[in-house]
Parts: sequence; structure tokens; C-alpha cells
Amino acid sequence: MRRIATVLTLLLAAACSSHPAAPTPSGSVAPPRHAPSAAARATAGQTSAAPRTAAAAAMSIPPVSAKARAAGLIDVRTVVPDAVVDLHYATTHNFTHQQLYPSRARCLVHRTMAPGLRAAAAVLRRQGLVLVFWDCYRPHAVQVRMFRIVPNPTWVAQPGPYATSHESGRSVDVTLARRAVGGTCPHKVRQHCQLIMGTAFDDFTPRAYAFATNGIGAVALRNRTTLRHAMETDGLAVYSGEWWHFDGPGSFVHRPILDAPPY
Ligand SMILES: [Zn+2]
Repeated sequence: MRRIATVLTLLLAAACSSHPAAPTPSGSVAPPRHAPSAAARATAGQTSAAPRTAAAAAMSIPPVSAKARAAGLIDVRTVVPDAVVDLHYATTHNFTHQQLYPSRARCLVHRTMAPGLRAAAAVLRRQGLVLVFWDCYRPHAVQVRMFRIVPNPTWVAQPGPYATSHESGRSVDVTLARRAVGGTCPHKVRQHCQLIMGTAFDDFTPRAYAFATNGIGAVALRNRTTLRHAMETDGLAVYSGEWWHFDGPGSFVHRPILDAPPY
């Protein structure tokens, strides 16, 4: 039982819960690079090399809720039409084994993330890759629920009177997949093949650190670099403690809690 509790506690820390304590750099981890982007622009840029079906795909995306729109949130597919949305918290396939988001949840991001995500997706598209979104905007109520499950501020940031990071829609958790071209694939996500990154999403070991090298194979190292470089194209910054977490402009600014559902 204790082991289960320990594992659960460790895994909770992997929930990008505003990163209460960044990992101390060790021999296997590069210095933290957790600075907010100054380069990312707040206005949408022009897309490039988007799939021919992009316009049609965007047209089929229903508008977000009025509250989400009022909060400046957009459906990520309007920016990255070939995005693979795989929200683990909308299923029981996550570290809590509870469904934290409603089934209709979408990947919503604040509009200020649009230029960075669009640029990253364009770079990856040219390499035959697509972004897979594991988590995007996270309602405050979900953060509260996570903290109730394991009320340990060492691992899960105690929900405060303000919103940052996922709670403000300015951070995303992403990985990579190669466009389906047939052949064998050890881990399919939709019709694509998810790349090897060295750990799963719900992992809280030093191997999850963005710049870890110990215990990370050459292929995973290369894939992490590919992801990081693409995301950095227009200023999205990786969190040193989690290779999958990227912050957009103003992610660390304390803002009013958003009263918006994840759809
Ligand atoms: Zn995160």
C-alpha cells in the first residue's frame, strides 16, 4: 500500500502542476531553462505548409464555449489542424486512474500560444511529424481535485488565488508522432506512430528531465531534441523538469482564475 501511495505521489508530480519545485540539476540534467519566452508574439503569424485539408478541418471545428472564448482560449486545431489530441485526463488512463476532464474536453490554449504552436507544427510537418497534445488548458477545479488526491505541495502545487501555466492556458504537454505510412508501430496514436521519448507522460524520475542523458537511448535523445527545437522556433520554452512541458508567453504571470470549462 505504501508503495502504491509512493508511486502515486511521485506520479502526481509529473502532472505539470505549476512545477512547485523544479528538479535540482544533477549530473544527468542540464541547467534549468525555465525562462518565459520573450520572442513569441501575441499576434497570430502566417501558417506554412499546412495540409491541404487544413481549411476544411478548421471549418469543421465547432466554436468553443462562450466562457472559454471570453477567456481568450481557442481550440488548438484551429492553429494546428493536424494536431493529435490525446488528453489523458479525459480518460482514466492517467496517474490518478480517474477521469478528470469531461469526455467532451478539447485541447484549448490561450491565443498567445498560437504563433509558437503554429511555427512548431510547420517545422515538424516538414519532417513528417505531428504534435500530440497530452494536456493543454487545465481548469482550476481540476487542479484543486489533483491536490485533494495527494495534498502534498512538494509534489503538487497547492491551488492558489491565481492562474498560471496550464491553468491560464499558456502551457502544453506534447510529444511527437510520425505520420502513418504503414509498417509496424510499437505505439499507435490515432493513425500515427508515437515516437520513443525515453519515458511515458506520467513519469517522475530523473529520466523525465528535459535534458536528462542517463538512461535515455540515442533515439529518444534525438527525438526530444527534435521536439524542443521545433517548439523553440517561435519562443515556446521547455520546462527543465519535464521534456513534454512547454510554456508560452506570460505563462508565469499571475492572472485571475479562469471560469471556463475545457471545451
Ligand atoms: Zn505540463
